[in-house]
Amino acid sequence: MPGFEFFGDEERKELNDVLESGILMRYGFDAARKGHWKAVELEKEICSTFGCNYAQLTSSGTSALTTVMGALGIGYGDEVIMPSFTFVASFEAVLSVGAIPVLVDVDETLTLNPDAVRAAITPQTKCIMPVHMCGSMADLDALKEICAEYKLLLLEDACQSIGGMYKGKALGTIGDAGTFSFDFVKTITCGEGGVVMTNSKDVYIKCDGYTDHGHDHLGVDRGADLHPFIGYNFRISELHAAVGLAQIRKLDQFLAIQKKNYTQLKNMLAEIPEISFRVIPEGGEDSCTFISWFLPTEAITKAVVAELKSQGILAGNFYWFDNNWHYIRKWDHLKNSTTLNSLNPLQRGALLKLQTTDFSASDAIMGRCISTAISLGWTEEQIKDKGEKMVAAIQKILSEYAVIAA
Ligand SMILES: *Cc1c(COP(=O)(O)O)cnc(C)c1O
Repeated sequence: MPGFEFFGDEERKELNDVLESGILMRYGFDAARKGHWKAVELEKEICSTFGCNYAQLTSSGTSALTTVMGALGIGYGDEVIMPSFTFVASFEAVLSVGAIPVLVDVDETLTLNPDAVRAAITPQTKCIMPVHMCGSMADLDALKEICAEYKLLLLEDACQSIGGMYKGKALGTIGDAGTFSFDFVKTITCGEGGVVMTNSKDVYIKCDGYTDHGHDHLGVDRGADLHPFIGYNFRISELHAAVGLAQIRKLDQFLAIQKKNYTQLKNMLAEIPEISFRVIPEGGEDSCTFISWFLPTEAITKAVVAELKSQGILAGNFYWFDNNWHYIRKWDHLKNSTTLNSLNPLQRGALLKLQTTDFSASDAIMGRCISTAISLGWTEEQIKDKGEKMVAAIQKILSEYAVIAA
């Protein structure tokens, strides 16, 4: 997922514009900034690149999620349905606005299982938040149908799927709102940063104020701005926006390389009949940041991971099932409701309930899944070498298990 692999003269040029004026803040100082408005420019580029009416930059993907939940009116007592496989930021944001994360099973899309979503709906449900993990998407038509039926909001956590498409639309622009992260390892980076995308002017105006202490940004004197509601400081700096501006102009190039490298490596893995691949919903187009693949059993998958490790070729292969950041199984801090300050009692109760919630359907998927990250910097020769080594290691384990079975 690595825009940082292509950091160069374009980023330095944009950064220098900001350094030369010395105006590192996105608001105000109109004369001194010598015409440079990097955050504003990046927001415009985001709208035109991804096809949405409004974009509000933030300091991170996490703060983008927090911001948009505030703007959508999600708060105390509201339930947000989200997947068991995601990044911790997704539930952090829900908790930060006083709402309740309701974690449900994923299917072979590695995203929300629509049937599990239906089963989790209660009168408190306010929002469904699919997380388009590892470059590909949830079945958005199925989720939209559920949202329409129950009058729920659809918020896409598209932080990991910049450039992925669904039925001709960019991921992140399909629900009531969507977010990207521009942290250091995402498809395009600002160093740190994020964005809320929406087609609703109302949601956008609320996001604009929420990220800047509630300022209405209507006047020319910042000190005289009115505050129609209480906000926070989730602003992006001009330095971070400048980096993102150079990166977004290279996005098509990143995506083309990603797709090429993905295709070459996937074709090699596909030679092994026991391997199957993540399901991409009809009409979906993977951004190709990862190849996610399944082995027949959890035991075989664990043995393959161990083999890759012992051969020194595990790097870039992620076994999420054992990963502390991405899957419910290892989120003890969440399941024990370990926080520094008090959560509201509804939140705490819901978190403790996760200790006994059955995620065996997710385990059956995640226990067999390995995701291979695609680098932009690989040569064809390197991919061939990597692929051959991986295939040999996988086949070695599969033949050992075939012997056991026979
Ligand atoms: C990276 C990420 C985020 C949060 O982004 P930060 O910019 O690191 O705060 C949220 N959700 C998912 C799925 C992510 O991968």
